[in-house]
Amino acid sequence: MTTAAASSPRTYQVRTYGCQMNVHDSERISGLLEGAGYVRATEADDNPDVVVFNTCAVRENADNRLYGNLGHLRPVKARHPEMQIAVGGCLAQKDRGEIVRKAPWVDVVFGTHNIGSLPVLLERARHNAAAEVEILESLDVFPSTLPTRRESTYAGWVSISVGCNNTCTFCIVPSLRGKEKDRRPGDILSEVRALVDEGVLEVTLLGQNVNSYGVEFGDRLAFGKLLRACGDVEGLERVRFTSPHPKDFTDDVIAAMAETPNVCHSLHMPLQSGSDDVLRAMRRSYRADRYLGIIEKVRAAMPDAAITTDIIVGFPGETEADFARTLDVVREARFSSAFTFQYSKRPGTPAATMDGQLPKQVVQERYERLIACVEEITWAENKKLVGETVEVLVAVGEGRKDERTGRMSGRARDGRLVHFATGANGQRGDAGLIRPGDVVHTTITYAAPHHLNADGEPLSHRRTRAGDAAEAGRAPRTPGVLLGLPTIGAPAAAPAPTTGCAAH
Ligand code: SF4
Repeated sequence: MTTAAASSPRTYQVRTYGCQMNVHDSERISGLLEGAGYVRATEADDNPDVVVFNTCAVRENADNRLYGNLGHLRPVKARHPEMQIAVGGCLAQKDRGEIVRKAPWVDVVFGTHNIGSLPVLLERARHNAAAEVEILESLDVFPSTLPTRRESTYAGWVSISVGCNNTCTFCIVPSLRGKEKDRRPGDILSEVRALVDEGVLEVTLLGQNVNSYGVEFGDRLAFGKLLRACGDVEGLERVRFTSPHPKDFTDDVIAAMAETPNVCHSLHMPLQSGSDDVLRAMRRSYRADRYLGIIEKVRAAMPDAAITTDIIVGFPGETEADFARTLDVVREARFSSAFTFQYSKRPGTPAATMDGQLPKQVVQERYERLIACVEEITWAENKKLVGETVEVLVAVGEGRKDERTGRMSGRARDGRLVHFATGANGQRGDAGLIRPGDVVHTTITYAAPHHLNADGEPLSHRRTRAGDAAEAGRAPRTPGVLLGLPTIGAPAAAPAPTTGCAAH
């Protein structure tokens, strides 16, 4: 493949919409482009040579937003004919050739299954002076085989599966991301170790439904084994995962969380609705009792666990009684935070054509009541931490007020956002300058519904390799090597089965 001219490398910019999957895919897109000789455009550069839109199809007006943004670029491209525009992600998978019909100034359209083709498609479009549209129906290369330019020096995403075998009626994922494909445990652990070797302290295992991990190779306990195996990775301080589905949650996963010291006691488990009738209509095959039962077991095993969730209000057919049941579950579950969504039609999903679509003002009014209920609970839960000492992994730019207040921010082990004072010496802790990626211990002095403050001097400050990398402006990169797609049926022997997890 020809790459951009060595003398003046072409610049690129990636614009990301949607979920963590897309954020991580964008890291791969950046890694691929840099591998092909492109360099990231500076913030100030408003006409990069390549602009990639990594799109999301989840929202009702996602396409309006995309075409609006593409429209803004049209005059820019007219002034800079060398500029190339590429559109990838879920909306590209859905709209395909329609995108170049509606926006003929787009150069490349690629789907969710062929991210790896992007540099070649850009090259071909340039060579042929014609748009390239390539969409595959299924995955040919597991995305984690691709080189990745990581955005964070201290925390990294690691995909354990892609796609989803469920059929939630509000969700477009199954039709755009396909059936669940599980990555081999040995490959996952290789990537985790590669990240830790680069100084990363925290890893989040990523899948649409992490609890069904192993379904492809017939091991229901595979996810718990994977968590335990992560516990053996020296230097890995925090393990998180997202998202589990209550249907597939096993007691073994709770035990693995409780028994593995580096697995954080935080759980993000989507509820969606507290009404069994609505759950049935959503085709989510657990019921409220089952959901609350999991929470009870998690709390029994880890009393300090912070549990967060996603809730949709105003699903078609939701009655006032159904909604009241959601509020009951919220009160009983005592979430530390909840992402709340007003139901909106997502084209291509079964729910979009269901009877009983609710008027906007009904949804809005319930939504406001839900937020008030959630905030009352999250605030009460946060207040319980005032006076407690927490370990904070220092982050970059969490909270805009930090500069003004002289605080820095980061996440506690349970995932809560903490703004902490850095002490009388400006941003110096007892080990020198406090950098993103370092670890401090501090005492909580104030609680708000969505964050905690710690306004005393930090009790301790530990410099880390992630902090060194942040200070030096180095982002971790993981090369796309050795990481093959699992075969369907019995997997091939995993490499170097040094842990129980790899020996399935
Ligand atoms: S579990 Fe349901 S909501 Fe989640 S990705 Fe699968 S179909 Fe979508």
